[in-house]
Amino acid sequence: MKNKMLSIGLILLVIPMLLAYQSGLQKISIVDKKISWGYKKGAGRSVDAIIIHSTYNASGTDSFSVQGVLDQFKSYGVASHYLIDREGKIYRLVDERNIAFHAGNSSLPDGRVNVNTTSIGIEIITTLYTSPSEAQYKSVAGLVKDIQKRRVIKYIKGHNEIAPGRKSDPWNFDWTKFNSLIE
Ligand SMILES: [Zn+2]
Repeated sequence: MKNKMLSIGLILLVIPMLLAYQSGLQKISIVDKKISWGYKKGAGRSVDAIIIHSTYNASGTDSFSVQGVLDQFKSYGVASHYLIDREGKIYRLVDERNIAFHAGNSSLPDGRVNVNTTSIGIEIITTLYTSPSEAQYKSVAGLVKDIQKRRVIKYIKGHNEIAPGRKSDPWNFDWTKFNSLIE
């Protein structure tokens, strides 16, 4: 009797854990935080690339401040479509239909320039000396998988790969880990 109770108890414990694991892998939640700068209308554009960046707040004491990063973006007139904070929260800054100014002077492996026109930019808040958090890996992978469900994506590249010598982000990004998460 005691054993049976224990088994039932274990099952009741394991089921919610499995469900939480599943939803953690599959469900992503996006917080809309639309901005008014750093993009132009891109009606009818076709997207086949995702560019991964990293950024941090260079002014003030909190390198990971979302508001600090947004203030910086605003002062430079740049933006990405998505921004992922240290807790893995995903902010949508610019609608995917629009062209966000995130890639700058860069080119895709097939030679195409004007990368902003055909790409979606994702910024992960991290510094030169910190790796993305586990929550950030999970969110960026979930977001990329979500985009792949909706679009045919040819390239998933780091900013450094499309602007070599000029850009070094995403910093400390573990591509092996990321690739295993999006499989
Ligand atoms: Zn970048």
